[in-house]
Amino acid sequence: RAKDDPGHPIRRFELAMAEDMEAAARVRQDLRAGIECGDLHLLYQPKVALRSGRLVGMEALVRWDHPRHGRISPDTFIPVAESSGLIIPLGEWVLRECCRQMQVWRAEGLTDLRVSINMSPVQVFSQDVAAMVAAVLVETNLPPEALEVEITEGVFVHDEERARQQFEGLREMGVALSIDDFGTGYSALSYLKRLPVSALKIDQSFVREITTKPENARLCRAIIGVAHDFGLDVVAEGIETAEHLAYLRSEGCDYGQGYHFAKPLEAEAFKALALQQPWLIRENV
Ligand code: C2E
Ligand code: MG
Ligand code: MG
Ligand code: MG
Repeated sequence: RAKDDPGHPIRRFELAMAEDMEAAARVRQDLRAGIECGDLHLLYQPKVALRSGRLVGMEALVRWDHPRHGRISPDTFIPVAESSGLIIPLGEWVLRECCRQMQVWRAEGLTDLRVSINMSPVQVFSQDVAAMVAAVLVETNLPPEALEVEITEGVFVHDEERARQQFEGLREMGVALSIDDFGTGYSALSYLKRLPVSALKIDQSFVREITTKPENARLCRAIIGVAHDFGLDVVAEGIETAEHLAYLRSEGCDYGQGYHFAKPLEAEAFKALALQQPWLIRENV
């Protein structure tokens, strides 16, 4: 019959689907093994206070070094982790690893830095994140003030009440909360006054075209204005050039990250930079 012929369109489609599902299952399986075998690791991207030029902290960004496929970007495997539930052990590993690393650095004299981690909305809606974070902070003996959690605004659109409860718990502990990729979701701004947020991060897509698209420059300026009106700090991500930096500084943006300062770095390279070059904006040195 035509349907049993592997060249028949329907049969071809079924085979492709099955292959896709097999591929997805394989990725899930590999990721589970990778988490257990230690194939994940963290890079650290410096965060700079734009007024003083000083290094104030870093964002921990996860990488997966697959035994056969090499390094895989989080944009590829975080969605798989989210849809499979693996984000729960992965998220906990990221937190524990960066807290452990922070304690090592603090003992080596790198005090006063704050580390940010990215938290998936799936974590917020499927576990008690405040309890999980509290347990890891106790275990690693890191003060809560040294930790910040980044979350995208979609989490508040989905279930604001549930999200609020979770983040109130974090704030009571002393952990800071910031809104990542701000301006890319479709949420109303009203949640800002109901939630324990301390900073907004301007999405890099706005920063990247700040010098070529006047509407992006206006957007950045507007976000800085909104943040300051609400008593929040603003962090710009994706600062790649001196022009990006100059504009954001002139508009009063508080903090920045981006290739202009440093790419996400291996732990050793981050430490070297932090010790040798605690000021990252040249004219402030
Ligand atoms: P994000 O939190 O918005 O992180 C910023 C991304 O921009 C990072 O990509 C960073 O490497 C990149 N970046 C930083 N500066 C520049 C720049 O100047 N120019 C350009 N073009 N890019 C820059 P990365 O590391 O590939 O991470 C992508 C996304 O994956 C993150 O976006 C975050 O949403 C997610 N992610 C990373 N680590 C974790 C994690 O541990 N847990 C969870 N749930 N998500 C994570
Ligand atoms: Mg982030
Ligand atoms: Mg971002
Ligand atoms: Mg992002």
